[in-house]
Amino acid sequence: MTRYSPEGATPAMAQWFALKAENPEALLFFRMGDFYELFFDDATAAAAALDIALTARGTHAGDPIPMCGVPVAAASAYLARLIRRGFRVAVAEQTEAPRKGKGAPKGPLARAVVRVVTPGTLTEDELLEPGRSNLLLALAEGVGGGRKGRTADAAGAPAQATAMIGAAWIDVSTGLFETARVSQMSLAALLGRLDPAEILAPKGLALGEHEAARAPEVLIPGVEAARQRLAAAFDVASVDAFGTFTDEEAVAAAAAVDYVQRSQAGKLPRLAHPSPQMDGGILGIDPATRASLDILRARDGGTEHTLFSAMNQTVTSAGARMVAEWLAAPLTDVSRIAARQDGWCWLRESPSCCAALRDALKKAPDIARALGRLSLGRGQPRDLAAIRDALHAARAAAAALGADHAALPPYLARAALSLGAAPELEAELVRAVAEDLPARLEDGGVIAPGYDGELDGYRSLRDNSRRVIAGLQAEYATRFGVASLKIKHHAQLGYVIEVPVAASARIKDRDDLMFRQGTASNARFSTEELSSLDARIAEAAERAAAREKAVFTVLVEQILAEETLPVLARALAVLDVLHSCAMLAAGGNWCRPVVTDDTTFVLEGCRHPVVEAALPKGTRFTPNGCDLSPDRRVMLLTGPNMAGKSTFLRQTALAVLLAQGGFPVSAEKAHVGVVDQLFSRVGASDDLARGRSTFMVEMTETAAILNQAGPRSLVVVDEIGRGTATLDGLAIAWAVLEALHSTVRCRAIFATHFHELAGLVDTLPRLSPHTMAVREWRGQIVFLHEVLAGSAKKSWGVHVAKLAGVPPSVVDRAGRLLRELERDHATGPKPLPLFDTQKILPQEDENTLRKRLLEVDPDTLTPRAALDILYELRKEA
Ligand code: ADP
Repeated sequence: MTRYSPEGATPAMAQWFALKAENPEALLFFRMGDFYELFFDDATAAAAALDIALTARGTHAGDPIPMCGVPVAAASAYLARLIRRGFRVAVAEQTEAPRKGKGAPKGPLARAVVRVVTPGTLTEDELLEPGRSNLLLALAEGVGGGRKGRTADAAGAPAQATAMIGAAWIDVSTGLFETARVSQMSLAALLGRLDPAEILAPKGLALGEHEAARAPEVLIPGVEAARQRLAAAFDVASVDAFGTFTDEEAVAAAAAVDYVQRSQAGKLPRLAHPSPQMDGGILGIDPATRASLDILRARDGGTEHTLFSAMNQTVTSAGARMVAEWLAAPLTDVSRIAARQDGWCWLRESPSCCAALRDALKKAPDIARALGRLSLGRGQPRDLAAIRDALHAARAAAAALGADHAALPPYLARAALSLGAAPELEAELVRAVAEDLPARLEDGGVIAPGYDGELDGYRSLRDNSRRVIAGLQAEYATRFGVASLKIKHHAQLGYVIEVPVAASARIKDRDDLMFRQGTASNARFSTEELSSLDARIAEAAERAAAREKAVFTVLVEQILAEETLPVLARALAVLDVLHSCAMLAAGGNWCRPVVTDDTTFVLEGCRHPVVEAALPKGTRFTPNGCDLSPDRRVMLLTGPNMAGKSTFLRQTALAVLLAQGGFPVSAEKAHVGVVDQLFSRVGASDDLARGRSTFMVEMTETAAILNQAGPRSLVVVDEIGRGTATLDGLAIAWAVLEALHSTVRCRAIFATHFHELAGLVDTLPRLSPHTMAVREWRGQIVFLHEVLAGSAKKSWGVHVAKLAGVPPSVVDRAGRLLRELERDHATGPKPLPLFDTQKILPQEDENTLRKRLLEVDPDTLTPRAALDILYELRKEA
């Protein structure tokens, strides 16, 4: 909001104030000729964010008006930077053509905001990440109820009688539109899965780490209004035509549609019908798990060193987006998983077909995003070419798959069937769109010669006149006796004769020449002939431009009328993903996992694809198996730091994501009984930075697991109990391990420093102790990264301390203390070595102080006596 008042503003500034008042939360890009200009506080903020000059234009209430501007031609780069810095931008265009002539009305040209650019409503390639969806998410709170037959929410947790939340998400750039109804508890999981660019949420609804994506204003409609609004947006009698929406979902969906429409100044882009996501069917992954596994983004926020980057081999942006989608939401339905697997296995067995498919896909542009822009009237010439080329690529892809669809597995066959769409449209675009395309429609030359007779007519008129003019230069040079005479085109004057100043004196009085303009070095003239040719060219060019625009609009309408295009776009993306999987599996290092509806869990020769890729040259990754079969479903894993525990835990969790996403798994063999919820607590948590203590975070996360996990879940946890004193920690780790084993009864890997826990194998029959192999060699520790059955014989902490460069004196002292402790322990009475912490630090001074303090009985002391004791202790200290 600007702190300036509109009183006394000039007419142009009054217009600015009015538009700004409509869009108080956004910076106002105010179109002035070839620039977007910003004023007042907007200017100050934008100049700082963009690092451009802040100047002033005119005055307001006696003060200069701060101003900065960006050229229209380069606006998207500036927009991108502003959006990334968290601004919203309202773009106000001139909505009438510049007036010419003396009789034209005075006053500023009419302007209107044609669009509000917000993080969740972007369409331009320059503003979007090609391989990621860009989602706007709307949330609405409701109470209980729900649609019939729904027993669980999208994240797989049981439906609750408490407040439920309706969620609707839209990707304006591709038209995706889905809804779901989730419990408060699984909202975080949904946010983690969708990672929205912008969120519309009621004020009271906390968004956790996604708070930064909250949009400033939200209008949440009432239930009836919402249903009507949706029906109207899709031109149907009732939104039930597309599925059953709960009240919350309908409200959220209508809020999202409204927001999109307002951001596009009333124009609704083409959206897919809202599609309610049925409950269950998706592997539950809570935010802490997502954060610990670096699935799509690494902990540093980058995309390098992620599961995605290690396994994605797609060649199109749409394919990459789909891989990301599948990885973010793995399935729990065995038959859907198998359908994906059948698809890529078939391609893996047909390398030549796979190669031909890859070649075809490489030439397929991002048709979904091109459609998004075209449907908003924001399409550019290259979007037409994108549709044309994608249709062509689709046909090539279809040819690669062969005509016999019956030979293909159903998932592939379905995709293949959609590829033959819109042959007439392709033929039309091939004829209509020129070879070399300009960036913008206004630059002309978009429509190919020969496509439209009227356009060709204007163009040849224009070009003939230009040719005549080109011929005139030589003729005039002779006629006026100036050899260096040139005919040039000038932005304001049109075509003019230009001669050096020295020559101009000789000819300036001639009747057949009209003087137009003089500069320091040149004089400019015109002739009647030249003026009339110029007028003809200008008129023909204007008509050609108008005609070209009309032809373009018709083509866009034809494209938008073709309802099979979004389906074709999706088919191309599916094929790209399946082809990517086939390529991955073709090397022989990635296998097709067996996925079944039980609780089997056996991985053989499994690797962590990200750690493996990051190993230095010459180092080999040591594959490890993992058997969590029902009779040994809880693995206790001991071993020193740096031995590879976290890597092993993570790779096991990643194998589940890959297997249930329908992807190949980085293992020799894998059999995964479907996991309903995955919990991974490995490595430091982000919360530490937010000031919650390590231990508090650890316990909150442990509580979340114990409260939510069930017998079909997989839990991988690292070092529960490390954040507190040894005894406390051991006791907690012990109790948690027992609970996972006997109460939750899930599959789990429990990595710990407490070797003592291996003793529990006698009381917990499904516990299988394992340890990381380590060897001592000439006093040095060597990590073999191998997971072996059994428990660690000794602790290696002291060795690791040495490796890390702790001073030798401290390492020696620790070594001696350790030997002493181990000796005590060997003769001690307890079967489990619960350390006596008093023994570890037998400090003389402390003991005297302590003894003296224990002698004092505070309840019987007078204040005076207490003070005396305090003085006495102080003297001794
Ligand atoms: P821990 O959790 O036991 O402290 P990490 O899993 O972080 O150990 O592993 C430490 C390092 O050891 C990793 O960064 C990696 O370079 C290497 N490493 C781990 N597992 C393996 C493996 N199976 N094969 C080869 N190198 C490994």
